[in-house]
Order: sequence, then structure tokens, then C-alpha cells
Amino acid sequence: MKNMISQLAQECLLEFANPNGNSALRKPTASNPRNQPCQACGGENLLTPKDVDLGYCCDRCADMHEGISIPGVDFSIGDY
Ligand SMILES: [Zn+2]
Repeated sequence: MKNMISQLAQECLLEFANPNGNSALRKPTASNPRNQPCQACGGENLLTPKDVDLGYCCDRCADMHEGISIPGVDFSIGDY
């Protein structure tokens, strides 16, 4: 299960790679409330429906991607 989530996170984070960094998420509004779970980490109420449509993940996952530094693990390639 953990591996599956990790793969989802990697796919999500690939989509997330853009110059705007961690500010890519839509602003929550009355018609677009932040009530959706992150598809990568599973955290609740982290994304708006619009974010989900666009395939984004939450700020925490994005930050994790920005700051990844685990010895022996290269998240940019994928360990298959
Ligand atoms: Zn997340």
C-alpha cells in the first residue's frame, strides 16, 4: 500500500514540477472549497475539486518534492 501511494505521489509530483513551485494550488472559494483528499498522501481537505481536476497534490507533497534528500533514494527517476 505504501508503495502504491509513493508511486501516486511521484506521478503527481511530476505534474507539479513548474516554475511556480508550491503556489500552484487553486485558492479555495465558496464554489470550489478545499474539501478533497490529496491523491498522493491521502490527507483530507487539502485540495479543491479544481486542484484534483488539474492533477495537483497538496503543498506538503510539493514541499517534500522540493526538499527531497534521502540518501540512496532518487525520487526523480523511480525505482523499478
Ligand atoms: Zn499530499
